[in-house]
Amino acid sequence: MKVFKFGGASVRDSAAIRNVGSILRRYTGEKLVVVVSAMGKTTNALETIHDKRFKGEEYKSELDALIAYHRDICKEVVPGECGVFDRVLDEFLQVLSESPDADYDMAYDSVVSFGELMSTAIVTDYLNSQGQRASMADAREIVITGEQYREGKVDWERTSSNAPQLIQLLESAEILICQGFIGTTLSGHTVTLGREGSDFTAAILAYILNAESVTIWKDVPGMMNADPRRYPDAVLLEKISYREAIELAYFGASVIHPKTVKPLQNKGIPLYVKSFIHPEEPGTVIQKDAAWDAVVPGFIFKDDQVLLSITPRDFSFVVEENLREIFEALAESNVRINLMENSALSFSICVDKNERRISKLKELLNPHYEIRYNESVTLLTIRHGNEQTIKDLAKGREILIEQLSRNTARLVLR
Ligand code: ASP
Ligand code: MG
Repeated sequence: MKVFKFGGASVRDSAAIRNVGSILRRYTGEKLVVVVSAMGKTTNALETIHDKRFKGEEYKSELDALIAYHRDICKEVVPGECGVFDRVLDEFLQVLSESPDADYDMAYDSVVSFGELMSTAIVTDYLNSQGQRASMADAREIVITGEQYREGKVDWERTSSNAPQLIQLLESAEILICQGFIGTTLSGHTVTLGREGSDFTAAILAYILNAESVTIWKDVPGMMNADPRRYPDAVLLEKISYREAIELAYFGASVIHPKTVKPLQNKGIPLYVKSFIHPEEPGTVIQKDAAWDAVVPGFIFKDDQVLLSITPRDFSFVVEENLREIFEALAESNVRINLMENSALSFSICVDKNERRISKLKELLNPHYEIRYNESVTLLTIRHGNEQTIKDLAKGREILIEQLSRNTARLVLR
């Protein structure tokens, strides 16, 4: 069987959903597991609804708009009843009618998970109305994680033991539609896997099912050597290794979620990245062979970074004890490091801008460390570049940090 993943843009309106149907028709006769994200900007809208609900504020207008958006699309694409969608909507309204979980992140997962539940319900209703035999699988019964709300860590053993459920469902349907991004913790509470986590779900399902391949359908031709919105000259990477794809995704290439590749690499399952606008084109294939990796230099800009310099207040050098303290604070505040550098007197890190997490970090470190800030910096990563590439890309900007290794150059730019 093949695993497909369709992201938010590929199901954002009725035309997009019909297009998904037409892509699936190209594979008639094959068993497909299709992972779908929330429609369009639904996850952002649900984040707002959750935040207001948690704070006890009014969110009716946002909720009404979101429900109308989904209902209208379902009515447009499905001639008869939207039976699966109506069931999911009832469940959503039921959850909202209860009081929110006491923990912010737990309450987030209860609400935000409905983006994927609603989109998969609509896609299932649509395919069935078209005579494409589809069933909806509930990712909450398959993907099991620890208790890390909003960032569930997959329990591979328990999740694998749920594979037979999926296989059984696939016996009576040709297409199994499943939510990306969501699962259930060991204690039975709904969880999400981190923003943009639906790609990862596709990899999880492919891994536990030993799928023949995974295809991520995107609005770009495949993995490119740079962001085509920023670089019109960006070129397609036709074939790259798992390792290269992990490096590119880890450094911020937003085409695939960084966690997606590893499980596929472990089982040697090829990953295709293809265009849902031109499904006949080959796209990118990510596989074992590294022979093509260095053919063109790749570059990735991560904007909106914060550069933090952490200095011990007692003028001591930055040694193991300080580093331990700093790393503990980083782990506790959930601040993820994108780049780090240390000198005798300070430890510098480049991190995503997340005010809540950074202020928690500051609070934890403040007694013993002075923290200096550089906001709105850019982290540039260049793979397989040379001196000239670096010069051209950093032109006109101040270089705050520069790190060079054999295949990778990383610069923090202001
Ligand atoms: N809907 C989720 C998000 O927007 C997951 C995903 O799209 O992959 O983050
Ligand atoms: Mg998305």
